[in-house]
Amino acid sequence: MASLPLTGAPGPVLALGSARSLIDAPDGSGSVLVQSDVGKGTVLAFAHGGYLSRDSIKNDPDLRECMRRIVAWAHARDNAAPFVLDGAGTAVLDAVGADPAWPTVKKSWRDALDEKAILIVDSHQFTKATDAAQLRSFVERGGTLITSGLAWGWLQLNEGKTISDHPGNRALIDLNIAFADGTIDGDRNNRYPVSSREHPTGADDIDAIMRITRGEKGINSERINGALERTRLALRTLTPEQSRRILNLEELMAGSADAINASFARMKESGLRPGRDPLAMLACEQFASASFELPPREVTAHPSAAAFPGIVAADADRSERAVEIDTTLPGWRATGLFVPAGELVRVTLSQELVASGLRLQIGAHLDPALRPPLRRLPKVTREFTVDAVTTEVASAVGGLLYLVVPAEFAPDSVRLTVTGAVQTPHFVLGKTSVQAWRDSIRNAPGTWGELESREIALTVPSDLLRTLDDPQQLLELWDRIVHAQGSLEPRRLNGLGDRQARYVPDPHVSWGYMYAPAHRPLTIPMSAAKNFIDAKMLATNADGDAWGLFHELGHWHQNDMWTFDGTGEVTVNIFTLYTIDKICGLPSAKAREDVFTPEKMLDTMRKHVAQGSPFGKWKSDPFLALKMYVQIEQAFGWEAYREVFAKYRELPENQRPSRDEDQRDMWMVMMSRQVGRDLGPFFEAWGVPVTSEARASIADLPDWMPDNWSDPRVAPPAPPGSQPK
Ligand SMILES: [Zn+2]
Repeated sequence: MASLPLTGAPGPVLALGSARSLIDAPDGSGSVLVQSDVGKGTVLAFAHGGYLSRDSIKNDPDLRECMRRIVAWAHARDNAAPFVLDGAGTAVLDAVGADPAWPTVKKSWRDALDEKAILIVDSHQFTKATDAAQLRSFVERGGTLITSGLAWGWLQLNEGKTISDHPGNRALIDLNIAFADGTIDGDRNNRYPVSSREHPTGADDIDAIMRITRGEKGINSERINGALERTRLALRTLTPEQSRRILNLEELMAGSADAINASFARMKESGLRPGRDPLAMLACEQFASASFELPPREVTAHPSAAAFPGIVAADADRSERAVEIDTTLPGWRATGLFVPAGELVRVTLSQELVASGLRLQIGAHLDPALRPPLRRLPKVTREFTVDAVTTEVASAVGGLLYLVVPAEFAPDSVRLTVTGAVQTPHFVLGKTSVQAWRDSIRNAPGTWGELESREIALTVPSDLLRTLDDPQQLLELWDRIVHAQGSLEPRRLNGLGDRQARYVPDPHVSWGYMYAPAHRPLTIPMSAAKNFIDAKMLATNADGDAWGLFHELGHWHQNDMWTFDGTGEVTVNIFTLYTIDKICGLPSAKAREDVFTPEKMLDTMRKHVAQGSPFGKWKSDPFLALKMYVQIEQAFGWEAYREVFAKYRELPENQRPSRDEDQRDMWMVMMSRQVGRDLGPFFEAWGVPVTSEARASIADLPDWMPDNWSDPRVAPPAPPGSQPK
């Protein structure tokens, strides 16, 4: 048995206390299989329900062998204990070809909890309040439980629940097993190799961290990274009470205050790193899960605030201020104020606005910020309900103060009186004067500020804002950018289409170079912050730096109806290219050096055709696929896209394509009708599959291929004057 397959996208299982990891994720971020011996019994937990499925076991010889050994071992431990044929029991025994002489019993797994038995049950079935205690006593008395769990999948299906509500966690954390959020990558072959190295227990992980903090040498960095990663995951998964009881980090932390402070002192400079700052990394995680949401009066400043979002000068004016906020737009509405770290701020509004759905928020940064080096706490933004005339708010790290306006909010404006916050650089297009900005506003003491129009909001570090001379010109340009994209296709509601489009540069960007989450701001790296306030760069796409910014906004305009599988990173660039054309004056042929010249694209297309037009390749290479879209644009203009998108939006609900093949068919048919040409041969050349019915439905139109197209599979015609042989 060399490795286990990935079944779906497994999530990390954690070995706590005396539990051992039997198969680790290759990067040490949790386990694929954990064993926990408690009392006279044992629990074995897999990282995904698929490991207990008949098909995956039958189809994968290594998994079959692993499972065969597990059931044989379970049987051998106490050969009088029967396998319970409920849950996944029947499937697993059948798939591994278990010895028919082994005892089995047919009953519900819950009915077997009073006896000594072998249960094979996915942990998502542990839904009854009594399951945890009964399973625990079942195991302690000598029972064997083979189970599985998957936190990320469960969290997606159970909105509003937290990871400690996961049925597997509720039942198994006291048996030293936890299912953590996130996924675990396989190796190069997309498998989890069974390593020959020692299988650490949860307690070994804590021990390894203690040893490195004592300055002990000779612990390899892989070991320390894995131990630290798993312990951070545990802090994120366990309740604060469980963490105290099971991980017992308090003693370790208390004895290392100097080391932790030294780590925080260099956090701004170089971030917190596993080999150097393991305890400060744990302290951040612990603080984020146990103390970040403390009642405002109990909040004190966290030492990471100096690194992010920065410390407000002690002498900055914190006196009472009245602010009037335009609430005709929903969502986060900037107050122009900044809450200093660990300081109590009082926000007062009128009685009739109490419990009207308004909320207050400190901070704008929502990236989960997990990957070291850590440059801020994993949580730096918190929200408060407004259920009294005066609401007290505070944040351990501080941040921009927002009023969060619900979607259906009647008043056009709200007046707040705020005490304890400081002014911050804030420019509102059409309201703030450029002169006032230059003279004073940009020098306000808050460490982050905001530029906004009705279309756009840019959250920006104040030191950069102080270099910006003309926010008006910048915001007018951004308005044109937002309008340009919206003129092709409106922003989707899950791209917060009813409010300002918002960009937030973050020292942590967990997905790619930048990303566009649904329901949250566009997240860009700190290195791009100087670009998105640089009107000259944006207006010219100098050095190509505008591409990424336009691209992320484009994601919010993509419509699923015409974004079939494989085009998520393709149709988005219709918006990128359109913006670069309309705003920067660079038509698609010039947008990205000369990738999209007609000749180059024909060249690429010929090579693709010569390779047999593999659709798999087309789907996995966004810039290859994009050329097909650009060829249509160069032949028929952006108008073709605008019109087709509009026709999609007019489709009645029951005609909207949802299946992948219907989406491809409809895209070809709609675009063909729009341009009055049969694009079937063009789709065929690019290898995008469509049905023969779809082809037949546009057969009345004349065929279309790009100008100067010649098929590489057809021999070129003989040159004039040559003699046929
Ligand atoms: Zn993208």
